[in-house]
Amino acid sequence: MAENSFSQLGLVGCGGAGFPTQVKLTANNVEALIVNAAECEPLLHKDKEILKHCTADFFKGLVTSIDATRAKAAHIGIKKKYSELIAYLEKAIPDKRIKLLPLGDFYPAGDEYELVYEATGKLIPYGGIPLNVGCVVMNVETLLNLGRNKPVTTKFLTITGQVPHPCTVEIPIGITIREALSIAGLTKLDGLKIIDGGPMMGKLVADPEIDVVSKTCGGLIALPVEHILIQKMTRGDHKNSRIARSACDQCTDCSELCPRALLGYPIRPHKAMRTAQLTPYAKSDYAIDSVFCSECGLCSLFSCPEDLPPREMCMISKRFHLGKGVKPAEFAGQPQVHPMRNARRVSIERLFKKLALLDYNHKAPLQQVTQRFEKVTLPLKMHIGAPVTPIVKVGDQVKVGQLIGAVPEGKLGAALHASISGKVTALTDRAITIARD
Ligand code: SF4
Ligand code: SF4
Repeated sequence: MAENSFSQLGLVGCGGAGFPTQVKLTANNVEALIVNAAECEPLLHKDKEILKHCTADFFKGLVTSIDATRAKAAHIGIKKKYSELIAYLEKAIPDKRIKLLPLGDFYPAGDEYELVYEATGKLIPYGGIPLNVGCVVMNVETLLNLGRNKPVTTKFLTITGQVPHPCTVEIPIGITIREALSIAGLTKLDGLKIIDGGPMMGKLVADPEIDVVSKTCGGLIALPVEHILIQKMTRGDHKNSRIARSACDQCTDCSELCPRALLGYPIRPHKAMRTAQLTPYAKSDYAIDSVFCSECGLCSLFSCPEDLPPREMCMISKRFHLGKGVKPAEFAGQPQVHPMRNARRVSIERLFKKLALLDYNHKAPLQQVTQRFEKVTLPLKMHIGAPVTPIVKVGDQVKVGQLIGAVPEGKLGAALHASISGKVTALTDRAITIARD
């Protein structure tokens, strides 16, 4: 498949910010192609379900990627604890260039800096990307979509938390969050809030009746409004800044356990907290190293004994400094792994306890979806780069898989396709709506 045909499929990284996949596939003579199958966010299972149930197409996509990038080897980073799945995959591997990379049960094992280090022993330079050390990191669902070799119109996600039937499903992109939750038997949302993504890095759904399942949604977690995670997620910058100013005793636990700091990057979240005590919203050069924060959330949700928000202060500080033109690549020095890294990594078991999620530790197996969805609303931007340009108009009939939004000439982006057949009923500067006839 040529780069052009990759870009026609609308492929993006399916878990994070939605980086257009065709760009990664233009890399050449790659040392190691690394599959992120770590799925280290508590409660989410969709990658494991894909590996178990869509094995052939996943491997087809992986072999296509290896060939496209001329990768010398491919490593599937997966937690050692999934021994049955590992044994199954070992037998199914179709190509001797592919190896399994068993990972410890830590958070954030799926961070690409961590994966690159575990797979190759190399550290991505300051402000760099995996390709700087000869690596490309891709996720499981992206490779599945590549292996299927057809436009991306559906999304796999785990629906869990306080729902009657936790499950993993494959559903059309663009249905509402409310419709998706109903598949897991959740119809009454009173007293609940919904997280789009994992508990560590997900974000709160503003309105389940309006917000839709996007190409990057990996999970929906329903939790009571009084749950500690929801309480923390509903605090805004103002409240976080006030808390940061009032209570941090500078114990430095947040910095000592920071996964990026343990890999050797110069991030010290307690400095962002100290800065917040002295200047509004941590906007001072003293916390300039916040630009190295991955926003993994470990400091705010696990490390801080006072339940304070160092991540949020780092994020404010990072935005401020990046906005001023600070470039992590221009920092002097090189990363060097902290000698205490192994001892200080945080296990998922401890994370479950600290996050008060043990009651929601469900299996969520893959379930066939029988519901027919009557309407979808497809955002023009579900990826890094420019929004797509609609190539349909209100009243047009479209078929599932038909191209309805094109990447603007010369821009970074991912094509958009109809996820159901029907008529275009609305077109705004943000989305295209399609309703079945
Ligand atoms: S934010 Fe929490 S962990 Fe970090 S220095 Fe302050 S009190 Fe300690
Ligand atoms: S969120 Fe906290 S723990 Fe994670 S990289 Fe940023 S500072 Fe470190």
